[in-house]
Amino acid sequence: MRVAIIGAGVLGASTAFHLALAGAGVVVADQAHAGRATAAGAGIISPWSSGRVDPGWRRIAEAGARYYPTLIEQLAEAGEVETGYRRVGALSVAADHTELDQIERAVRARQAEAPEAGEVARLSPAEARALFPPLRQDLGGVHVSGGARVDGRLLAAALRRAAERRGARFHTGPAELLARDGRVTGIRLASEVIEADCVVVAAGAWAPEMLKPLGVSLAVVPQRGQITHLRLEGVDTGAWPVVLPRSSHYLLAFGGSRVVVGATRETGSGFDYRVTAAGQAEVLNEALAIAPGLGPATLVETRIGFRPVGPDLRPMLGRIAGLDGLVIGNGLGPSGLTIGPLAGRLLAQLVLGEAPELDLAAYDPLRLPGDAAGDGAEP
Ligand code: FAD
Repeated sequence: MRVAIIGAGVLGASTAFHLALAGAGVVVADQAHAGRATAAGAGIISPWSSGRVDPGWRRIAEAGARYYPTLIEQLAEAGEVETGYRRVGALSVAADHTELDQIERAVRARQAEAPEAGEVARLSPAEARALFPPLRQDLGGVHVSGGARVDGRLLAAALRRAAERRGARFHTGPAELLARDGRVTGIRLASEVIEADCVVVAAGAWAPEMLKPLGVSLAVVPQRGQITHLRLEGVDTGAWPVVLPRSSHYLLAFGGSRVVVGATRETGSGFDYRVTAAGQAEVLNEALAIAPGLGPATLVETRIGFRPVGPDLRPMLGRIAGLDGLVIGNGLGPSGLTIGPLAGRLLAQLVLGEAPELDLAAYDPLRLPGDAAGDGAEP
């Protein structure tokens, strides 16, 4: 089977990896837009800590988090060990005891249904600071040991290399869809037409423009996120947990003394690829209010990413009625690094004519703004 994929963010790269693993002939085109979400994403994977209530989001986000260890093992078998994935735990923080009681109750209820969330523990302010030393002195926490983080750039690159080793071909540059008589027949690159039995459009926030000529109206918009990378010289931050205050902001850490803080959520931003004064101020003020110990850190860079946001928080995964040869993956919004690897596997199953291991009925790409609501921390 010949499959063409447009987009090599976490979703396109994972789809390519799973298809190549199954023996399909895969060609991927990626334009490497400035602001592609996967290259900016924080990388928090802890859906059990989220306040979101929508069961459709929970089902796929928790399955996505559960799938990670298997994926990381598969990548390791393929020789890919640099993904930045680590189960460092996730720490929800608050100063108020009643608020911590509520958080603990909610997290324990999730854990009862999702044992992969690991151990749940209530931490005193001193215990919380022992895990994340820059934290404010009055913040206690609820720690979930299964919480993890991943580096989106490293993960997508590892998936790509593993797919290439299985024969997938990657091109850098824009791709267009080719269609004839109600059927998508392939893609056009700058100097080449590639015919395919199926085309997967995993083009993130840029997908709607590409689909318009086919009469497909995909309700996805870019939501800008500004996110700042700090360095705490000489400090070993590699095992620090993800910190989740009761807002949409958060803090997490990687090796190399790197601490990542963010992020803005700018609906209506369009593709405005800029660090703004207000965005930078918001990110730093929120971070320093939670972790004043980050004051002396070096500001390394601020990344910008355009989250592909659909009509609600659920991803958009599936075929389009009346248009053969096309599969869409989109709408990963603020949780794409959690959901994306599994979603790529589900898309691969769909392309191959297998029944996806998770029912995709709730994730129809053309559904109208609906019942799924709720917000909270990034993943
Ligand atoms: P993208 O990564 O945007 O990839 C789409 C690709 O398609 C791009 O490379 C683009 O160049 C390509 N493309 C588009 N049009 C064409 C064309 N015509 N031809 C060829 N190629 C094309 N998720 C979490 O789970 N946890 C987090 O903590 C988290 N934090 C985040 C923080 C920020 C600041 C942001 C911005 C996002 C965060 N996310 C997080 C969300 C996550 O990063 C995204 O949902 C996910 O990366 C989306 O992946 P994608 O592959 O759909 O899109």
